[in-house]
Formats: sequence, C-alpha cells, structure tokens
Amino acid sequence: MSPARRLLPWQAYAAGGALAAGVGVALPAGLPNDVLFSVVSISAAVATALGTRLHRPQRASAWWLLAGGLLAWALGDTSYAVCYTWLGWDAFPSVPDAFYLLAYPLIAVAMLRMARQARPGADREGVIDAAILAVGFGLLSWTFLVRPALAALPQDLPAGLVSLAYPVGDVLLLAMLVRVLSAAGPRSAAAGLLCGAATLMLTADTLWQYSDAYATLNDTWVDLAFTSSYVLWGAAALHPSMRRLSDPSPSSRHEFSPLRLAVLTGASLLAPGTLALQLVLGLPTEGWAVVVGATTLFLLVVARMSTLLRRLREQTDLLGDLARTDPLTGLLNRRSADAELQRAQERARGEGVPLVVALLDLDHFKAFNDTYGHPAGDALLVGAATAWTTALAGTGAQLARWGGEEFLLVITGWEPARVELLLDELRAVVPAGQAFSAGLAGWDGREETGVLVGRADEALYAAKHAGRACSRTAVAHRPEPQPGEYSRPSA
Ligand code: GH3
Ligand code: MG
Ligand code: MG
Repeated sequence: MSPARRLLPWQAYAAGGALAAGVGVALPAGLPNDVLFSVVSISAAVATALGTRLHRPQRASAWWLLAGGLLAWALGDTSYAVCYTWLGWDAFPSVPDAFYLLAYPLIAVAMLRMARQARPGADREGVIDAAILAVGFGLLSWTFLVRPALAALPQDLPAGLVSLAYPVGDVLLLAMLVRVLSAAGPRSAAAGLLCGAATLMLTADTLWQYSDAYATLNDTWVDLAFTSSYVLWGAAALHPSMRRLSDPSPSSRHEFSPLRLAVLTGASLLAPGTLALQLVLGLPTEGWAVVVGATTLFLLVVARMSTLLRRLREQTDLLGDLARTDPLTGLLNRRSADAELQRAQERARGEGVPLVVALLDLDHFKAFNDTYGHPAGDALLVGAATAWTTALAGTGAQLARWGGEEFLLVITGWEPARVELLLDELRAVVPAGQAFSAGLAGWDGREETGVLVGRADEALYAAKHAGRACSRTAVAHRPEPQPGEYSRPSA
C-alpha cells in the first residue's frame, strides 16, 4: 500500500470502532454483546493513552486525566456486565456505581483543564455560559430524572444519593463541554471529535437514566450512542491536531455568535419551558424548582449582559482612540485637532486669555525622503513627534499631525512672542539634524478657527520664503466693526 493511502492511527481506530459499534447493534443482547461493549469502552481509554504518548502534547496532564476518567468509565461498564448480567446481582448502589461516579469528575476536570489552557485567565463569559446551560438542563434533569428516581427510593439514603449523583455528573460534564466549546471552539478536528464524544456520552447517559426511570427505551440505541461516544473520545486523542487543542486562543475570537445567542436563549427558556411541559402533560408542577431555576437563570443572563456591556465599552474606547489619533506618530489627527482648536477657542473666549496657533512644516522633507528612503522619513516624523511631545510637557499646548510633514500647535494663555521662543526649543530637538519652518497666528477674539489657521499658513509661507528654519508671526488681525457695536463717543 502506498504511504498516501495508509490509514492514520485515528482513522484506523475510528473505522474499527464504527465497525464494532455496528456489530453491537446487530448482535442480540447477551454475553458476546456485553464483551464487545466492554472492549469498545476499554479501547477508548487505551486509545486516549496511546494518542497522548504518540503526539506528546505540551500540556499532557489533561489528556492523562481523560484517559483515567475513560478507564474508570470502562471499568464501570465491565463490572456492570459482570455484576448484574453474569452474577445476577440486583443490589444498588454497587461496584459499577463507584467506577462511574469516579469517572465523571475525572473527565470533567480533564475538560476543564483543556478549556483553561486554551483560554488562560478569567474566562468570565465562558463560565457564565456554562452555568446558564448547566442550570437550564439541571432543572430539566431535576424535574424529569432526579425527582422520579428519588421518589422510587424513598427510604434508602445511599441509593438516593447515588441516583442523584448521576444526573449531577451529567450536568457537570455539560458545563465542561460548554467551557471547552467556548474556549477551544471548533478550531481543530480533535476539538470537534472531543465535543462530539462528550455530547454523545451525555445524550446516551441521559437516555439511559430516562429509560431507567420510565423503562420505555430500546437499549440497543442507547448502547450505540455510548459506543459511538467511546470511539470519538479515542479518535480525538489519536488525531494529530490534539496537540493544538489547548493552545491559547486569541481573545478576539471570543465573539458572541448568533448560534451562541440562540443556545443561551434556549437554555434560559428551559425554566418556563419545564413548567409549561408539566402543565401540558398534566404532571404535578414543580413550583419551587422552577422559581429557583428561573431566578438563577435570570441573574446569570444579567451577569452575561454586563460582560457584553463591558466589552462594548472597551471596544468603543478603542475605536474612539483610533479615530482620534494619527496611526504613525500617535499624535492627535487632523479631525481631533479641529475639535481641540474649537475647545481652546471656547476656553480663550471664556477666560479672556490669548490663543495662538502655529503650523510647523519640516524643511526639505522630500529631499530627506529621497536621500534616506521613505522608512527613514517615517522614523523622522515619529522621532520629531516624540521629542516635541516631551519638550511640550507642562506647557498645556496641544500638538497634532495636520497632514504629511505638517503639525499644528494650539496653545492658550501665551503671547505669540513667547510661543516663538518655544518653537525655537522645538526646532533644537528635531532628530537627524533636520529643521522646520513655522507660521504663527494669534486669535483676534472673533475670527473662525479656519481663518486663524489660514493666517498661520500664510505666515508659514513667509517663513519658507525667508530661508526656512525660522518662525514668522502673522500680523495682528484688525477686527471688523460689528453692526451696532461701535458707538461714536458723545460730545
Ligand atoms: P519644504 O522645505 O518646502 O517644506 O519642502 P518639503 O520637501 O518638505 O515639502 P514638500 O511638500 O515638497 O514635500 C513633502 C513630502 O513629505 C512629500 C511627501 O512624500 C512626504 N510625506 C508626506 N507624508 C509622509 C509620510 O507619512 N511619510 C514620509 N516618509 N513622507 C511623507
Ligand atoms: Mg509641507
Ligand atoms: Mg516641508
């Protein structure tokens, strides 16, 4: 057989497992069927251990725990067949229950580890989602599985507790399945196989308990669901992508998808749904269970909303920052410089202090670009912006990138002559021995900001004409007389 057509270990295992599961459906109940069922169950634990040895994932402990949990489960299956079918015991609880009840926490902790490795840190959203599903299905489970089981065993406390432990174990597994799904997602085939395995195991286990409580289901299909889940567990561990399953995922992937919303909505409606089902079926209603379930779900949904609101606020802040700043230099961009200038004008008007704007334009920047290259030009822009920001600290001046190699400085409370001196200081710190020309204009107390900047621009041209590397201040603007404002001094 050519290497390209050779089955990979996980494919060989899945194919063999599917065959065995199919044979299990065809075989009548009895010894061969029991043996086959136990063999498939044990094979899942063995395949998980082999896969962990074979692929050596960086974080192997979760997989060893899973192998241990599956082994406990397989021992439960095997001892169940031995005790109840072959030896004809009818005691409950008994040996198999000890194994099964050990398996739940082991598998749950294994999945929790995988989820936490894939999403390190506090995964509040994942925890709340898991809790919503666990509470919703926990209520269903309590109403339709636990209560009938408890009612059937009124005087026997150990039996009652063990009957209670099975649905609790399933709710625990469900919560961990949600954690893995939300943390590792369907990123890899191994994650998909693992989640499929957990889903099938939960379904099979629930059907089994349901059939125990109501004795109406055909065991063959429940057994098929169990064997399929075993094969998927083993295949997940043998799949090469298991190595990546617990790789930390970028937090941006944690999006609130329509599917997540639908699942959470469905789970939150399980409380009124349970009550409705009881009313429709004419069953005795479980008032308090529904009250507790609905209240818990409501509080969890509110907590989930608060996480979404917090995320929305973070994103709004981030977008606001992006919209305000120039990506290259980190200075304010032109749009926010305009707004800043308006605010400075309001301040100057309100406090009656001077307002000065200055346009700074690097000299011969095109030649600098042509000589040293565009990246060096970028670096000069960044270096100048950084040096100026440091030099301006404490002056109250606002510096913005007005465009290209032009910058706008806005300052209140300073006279133009003093700003010219400040600009000399800024000129001294331009990196790479470069210089800039600047045009200043002092606000006349009336003009629009656009007119003010226009005058600074004219002054900048004057500075360029004067030979560059200098500043020029626009001549003071004579205010236009406003109608009715000027009154002739009375004689
Ligand atoms: P002057 O002394 O008269 O101001 O001459 P100049 O070469 O500085 O002026 P000019 O307006 O002719 O050229 C500006 C150059 O700035 C042209 C453009 O390629 C360059 N430039 C604009 N934005 C950027 C940028 O973000 N990065 C780099 N590296 N260059 C830029
Ligand atoms: Mg220019
Ligand atoms: Mg220039």
